[in-house]
Amino acid sequence: MPKPNPRHPNYPIPGGDVLRAKGWRQEALLRLLENVLSVGEDPDNLIVYAALGKAARNWAAHRAIVKALTDMDEDQTLVIQSGKPVGLLKTHAKAPLVIMANCNIVGQWAKAEVFYELQRKGLICWGGLTAGAWQYIGSQGVIQGTYEIFMRIAEKRFDGSLAGRFILTAGLGGMGGAQPLAGRMAGAAILCVDIDPARAAARKAVGYLEHVASDLDTALAMIDEAVKAKRATSIGLVGNAAEIYPEIARRGIVPDIVTDQTSAHDLVYGYVPKGMNLDQVKGLRDDGQGQLMAASRASIVEHVSAMLEFQERGSEVFDNGNLIRTQAREGGVANAFDIPIFTEAYLRPLFARAIGPFRWMALSGEESDIARIDDLVMDMFPDNKIVTNWIRLARENVPFEGLPARIAWLGHGERTELALAVNKLVASGEIKGPIAFSRDHLDAGAMAHPNIMTERMKDGSDAIADWPLLDAMLLCSSMADLVVVHSGGGGYAGYMTSCGVTLVADGTEAATERLSHALTNDTSLGVIRYADAGYDESFDEIEEKQIGYVRIGNT
Ligand code: NAD
Repeated sequence: MPKPNPRHPNYPIPGGDVLRAKGWRQEALLRLLENVLSVGEDPDNLIVYAALGKAARNWAAHRAIVKALTDMDEDQTLVIQSGKPVGLLKTHAKAPLVIMANCNIVGQWAKAEVFYELQRKGLICWGGLTAGAWQYIGSQGVIQGTYEIFMRIAEKRFDGSLAGRFILTAGLGGMGGAQPLAGRMAGAAILCVDIDPARAAARKAVGYLEHVASDLDTALAMIDEAVKAKRATSIGLVGNAAEIYPEIARRGIVPDIVTDQTSAHDLVYGYVPKGMNLDQVKGLRDDGQGQLMAASRASIVEHVSAMLEFQERGSEVFDNGNLIRTQAREGGVANAFDIPIFTEAYLRPLFARAIGPFRWMALSGEESDIARIDDLVMDMFPDNKIVTNWIRLARENVPFEGLPARIAWLGHGERTELALAVNKLVASGEIKGPIAFSRDHLDAGAMAHPNIMTERMKDGSDAIADWPLLDAMLLCSSMADLVVVHSGGGGYAGYMTSCGVTLVADGTEAATERLSHALTNDTSLGVIRYADAGYDESFDEIEEKQIGYVRIGNT
């Protein structure tokens, strides 16, 4: 039975053992589509997260997708073009059930203004990364990533602990909403600024954010008190980051860590310029795009200038993947890229081993299925400290949103082993229903994003988008259930290409084959991508795990 959804009552959380589709694979994808809306930011407009990331092009397309998933046989493939189903074709039972291409615009045309025009004509939509691929699981999807960044900074700068440390950030939206909980789990006192009171209230309601302060003075006093007591806490503040950051700097306060996760990538549908309220911004989205873009960029200039000032005074400042430095540089902040990107600064050695955000969703809707897999992970990987520490913390601290789900940073071999073990538990009935696996698009072989994922690669291959395309073809050849190629939309147009994949462990022998090939090949390509760029960790991984890398040279 579906479960009620207090945040969005019209979008119940899927679950139960009654199938509407002809098999569990199809039913799984249908439930994942329902799930991204149940945990999304604005489901009535099909918007899931990241300002404009949509689950489907429009409601007619959505209805057609639901009908196709419900009616289709296992030997058919549903073809989706930017959120609109365009073909239901006969393939074979080992082929993907769904393939998608989302928002891929030819190079010279891949610009925000062209995207908005194509969107206005109803020809395209942006799928975010995980929205259009029906893989989004709410703020919990990035929570370990955000936590690991904070812990890497703790190791690098603060003797391994963030107790008594002040993190300043902004953005309490779909992904940014993970920050207060990740900061608190890392032991810090974190202040999160958001212009929209409804977003702060939503994070508080689900337990990701502890308090919402009435004004800046109160917020800073609460942070000060927690820092002195070395007590972890999360404080929300309703305000514009382009005003609050400079004001904190003006008062001479130097946070230990500063970042930002507003939707700065999109100057029209994401970032809210200083001096405007949300209604004014909405009013300008159709007819005042130029004005809005200029105003957003001017505010981002002030926002990033304050971040640079904090950096100069000693804060650890980083870009958390929202293109804010790029927007600021285009607005004239020549040194915006003095701020490092989180991938290069803290996580690249993990990506070089294809360790990244891997996730699983209990299609039964039962939390006990996730609890059983938590135990399994602890048993299977006792020596993997990142993962065991995370599972312990997540069990205690991370409330479920939508379908019960878990994310953990696992690498090559580990993902396959876990998925196969889970498939056996599904087969034996120890787990109540099938489990879907996916991973973030921000994964070793899956993303080309020269200002985020692949910035300053060792060999200068930052902008080469062959890797995600190869990944997608490899995953189709490896029998994955859903494969997607996404490129950036809105402000991300022209900035990125990524590949996503979903697999369903339904307890069958066929699932064993799919999981084994697809998950192993996906991370193999990730390791190969980094080996090709010259990372030593990747060569170690290739040796240790016998990955089929083709070396060219004098060997
Ligand atoms: P979202 O659109 O759901 O939320 C953005 C939030 O920013 C909203 O709550 C909005 O009110 C707030 N905001 C906008 N302008 C503001 C301003 N001037 N001052 C204060 N608050 C402001 O977006 P999201 O899903 O939370 O994603 C945020 C950004 O992070 C996006 O750019 C997204 O692409 C990026 N992202 C990064 C990663 C990563 O791995 N690092 C992952 C996912 C998303």
